[in-house]
Amino acid sequence: MRLLLVEDEAAIACRIRESLEEAGYTVDWARDGVEALALAREREYAALILDLMLPGVDGWEVCETLRRRRDPTPILMLTARGALEDRIRGFEIGADDYLPKPFELPELRVRVRALIRRSAVHRTRLIRIDDLEIDTEARRVSRSGREIPLTPREYTLLEALARNEGRVLSRETIRERVWDDDESYSNTIAVRIRQLRQKVDDGHAVRLIHTVYGQGYVLRAPESEIEI
Ligand code: CA
Repeated sequence: MRLLLVEDEAAIACRIRESLEEAGYTVDWARDGVEALALAREREYAALILDLMLPGVDGWEVCETLRRRRDPTPILMLTARGALEDRIRGFEIGADDYLPKPFELPELRVRVRALIRRSAVHRTRLIRIDDLEIDTEARRVSRSGREIPLTPREYTLLEALARNEGRVLSRETIRERVWDDDESYSNTIAVRIRQLRQKVDDGHAVRLIHTVYGQGYVLRAPESEIEI
């Protein structure tokens, strides 16, 4: 499982990373908020460990931006000890847990594990976008109540788009999330999207899957905004 650690102090980041890697996680390290937001867009993380005091774009802004993008990645904030206002503000803008600094590494590991477990339980089974319905457990898709038969690959592609509703996924991101086992598929993403669109959108007045030229693909309800 891959985690994103956002911490500007190298010594602290190193210790945290080592400890989490020992626990079996793969850890990407971002030194500032800008890098964190770029990484979070490119990859899917099981959880984010977010220091608040960062140069430039701080932890608050990272958290707010992710939630605005409708990124559901669970966030563990690292706060100053005793800063009650920080914790309240953190929860208000969408953080899931906090840990006051300085902390013991075993506690961090336990909290990360609990956070991931909770988010897996709450991860929505049913995704509804306009009249499109995706049952992620049964891997069944329907539109206006009519079932749409999809190949496993088409399903994975659709679910990736739907979980990022309103957010443009680049070809690289799609290749990584949907075709991670076979790089030779990268040229055929446009073809697969076209096939998926035929099955999902043809015959419907409202089109859900859109191409954003030069950027990638997005699935969105007609009234929602696109974020590039
Ligand atoms: Ca810091």
